[in-house]
Amino acid sequence: MKSKIPKDHPRHDSLVRRERLAELGKKGLVHETGLIAHGRGEAFDYLLGEKTIPASDHAEKVAACYLLLAKNPVISLNGNVVALAPKECIELAELLPAKLEVNVFHRTQKRVEALVEEMKKAGAKEVLGAKADAKLSYISSERAKCSKEGIYSSDVVLVPLEDGDRTEALVKMGKRVSVIDLNPLSRTARTATVTVVDELTRALPNIKRWVEKLKGDDREDLKGMVSGWDNKRYLKEVRKYILTRNFE
Ligand code: ATP
Repeated sequence: MKSKIPKDHPRHDSLVRRERLAELGKKGLVHETGLIAHGRGEAFDYLLGEKTIPASDHAEKVAACYLLLAKNPVISLNGNVVALAPKECIELAELLPAKLEVNVFHRTQKRVEALVEEMKKAGAKEVLGAKADAKLSYISSERAKCSKEGIYSSDVVLVPLEDGDRTEALVKMGKRVSVIDLNPLSRTARTATVTVVDELTRALPNIKRWVEKLKGDDREDLKGMVSGWDNKRYLKEVRKYILTRNFE
């Protein structure tokens, strides 16, 4: 669909994102609660100045290190992610390489298949999720259903826009979980191994840039970077950034 938002509108990009979510909402790919989640993200992005703050660039570097160290890295996709950043996910997955898997809270077979199809339209070769042949432990919602060769057997999962329950379940299962969440106070943010407090469409290309930069590095150096990461301290730094920012 061609956007009707004028190119010179001061909030062009943000309005185009809303338009895209609404469009996929009408098709049933984005759930209506996804629109609420997006609004909460926008509010936090305002507080951050709608840019990648230096501490989050560091978080993106550590998320890249985890992905590079992984044996079976998976990028988990929900409706909002497929609507807003399909190409960014595909590019990162191809570079690593990592698997792509659709996993949604409001799961119907039809919706998962439509999301897989949407990713294929954007250029993805393989997207897991339609065949749910495994179940995550510690979780009772439909999100427990996943792919055996994907999220179930993964050691590192990148979950853009996650809910707290599943992050907790994945961590309890022994996986390293990197999340992208603009809300530094969410349960997701507090539970993840690495939380990237940045907007999805900025965070994914930044992680990709770090992967490109660090790809040839010694594994021991990458391990050193992840072992030095303190997620709690980082979240404190983000909160301090918001509280002490000059809003004039
Ligand atoms: P939790 O269970 O972790 O406390 P929650 O119930 O708020 O979180 P969701 O409703 O799934 O979880 O919300 C997803 C989160 O995604 C929101 O907190 C919001 O800040 C964040 N978010 C939404 N859109 C974006 C975006 N484009 N980029 C980054 N983060 C986003």
